[in-house]
Amino acid sequence: MSSLHCKYAYKQCSAPRAIKRNGNLHNLCAYHRQRANAVQKKHISKRSRMLMASPMSEQVIEDDELLANVLIELACAPEPIRFDTPNQVSPAIDSETLTLLLGLGA
Ligand SMILES: [Zn+2]
Repeated sequence: MSSLHCKYAYKQCSAPRAIKRNGNLHNLCAYHRQRANAVQKKHISKRSRMLMASPMSEQVIEDDELLANVLIELACAPEPIRFDTPNQVSPAIDSETLTLLLGLGA
């Protein structure tokens, strides 16, 4: 914990890190967390229809590492999973978001 500032990796972000409900600091500021959570929800809600996966889709993940793992797992899926629309490849996580996630563990 060297800094109280957002660890968003893609751009410099001087916003203060968000505070978890348990009082600890998130790695990201509120804005970037919201953004990461939005991406995560979008992917999980699509994927959970396929995999009958976790109840995670209904909750905001509080743990940055868990969030990162979920997204990285999705990003690194061995092959694209097709959803309802065969013509439309599932949207990949954009490089900005991936960079953000890979920077979380540092
Ligand atoms: Zn930020």
